[in-house]
Amino acid sequence: MSKPDRIAAPARPTALRRSVRACRARCLQRIACVALLFGVIGASTAVAQQDDADDPARLFESTPEQFVVANAQFVLMHELAHLVIDEKRVPILGPEESAADYIAAMMLIRPRTLPPEGPDALLQVAVNTAEGFALAWRRRERVGAELPYWDNHSLTVQRFSTLACLLYGSNPKRFSILVERLDMPESRARACIREYERAAYAIDWLFDTYARKETDPPGAPIEIRFEDPPTLTSVRMRDAIRRQGFVERTFRFFNDVVALDEPATFVMRSCRLPQAMWLPETRELVLCYELLDAYMAMSLERTQPAERGAADAAD
Ligand SMILES: [Zn+2]
Repeated sequence: MSKPDRIAAPARPTALRRSVRACRARCLQRIACVALLFGVIGASTAVAQQDDADDPARLFESTPEQFVVANAQFVLMHELAHLVIDEKRVPILGPEESAADYIAAMMLIRPRTLPPEGPDALLQVAVNTAEGFALAWRRRERVGAELPYWDNHSLTVQRFSTLACLLYGSNPKRFSILVERLDMPESRARACIREYERAAYAIDWLFDTYARKETDPPGAPIEIRFEDPPTLTSVRMRDAIRRQGFVERTFRFFNDVVALDEPATFVMRSCRLPQAMWLPETRELVLCYELLDAYMAMSLERTQPAERGAADAAD
């Protein structure tokens, strides 16, 4: 088992230091600061590490559209994980929702095959998704929503920390910034390395066990259907998703590696609620347009320069 690299945090720009201090002082609960801290990573490290080819700051920079598409891509992979667990009767311990999150995360962090854009394109999806979870948690705290402790999903703040932990564990040197900027305890950081190793062993086992052999017939087809979006935002995001073609790419990759036993359908439709689901009875994987609208609204809550300025002013 490897020991964690010594964490050498890059020098913090003064504005960031003030912003973090002010945030800590203002927040009654530290976790409410996560999204703010997460949001300033990109802007601050772009200055501190701009010559570093492995600069993680690039992963934190995304337009609202990229943020929405990245979160939708994670949801798609999460639902595909449900499909595989269901169809292949994959043995799992613990909540299936957590297993689906781990499978989706590891497919991004430890891909079986690389996309043409390179591995950072997938890491960027993981980073944007983690930020999405942090923002969702911050919103819950802001409105004082009750803790959904009976929900079969982990709390969004835990889904955030799990993703951040796996990212750090996959490459402690490159992602040392997460320990520094997210106040990740060093004991947890060390544990993250072991968590990533265990997750890597499990995802390798899963693909080795269920992977299609070369002599096997191709997997059953997956139909992709886009129904009419209900809002201008979802029209724009549907077009972006089509343009980027990640749905087709993800399914092609999945069917090459895993090979579905029976045909399935991916459908984007309006369902009045911001959600996604795998429906085993109809073998439909549904992504609701309302979820895209919700992600777009969330993207507008990402840390803006004005907000960072306000935090600075409060110091
Ligand atoms: Zn799920």
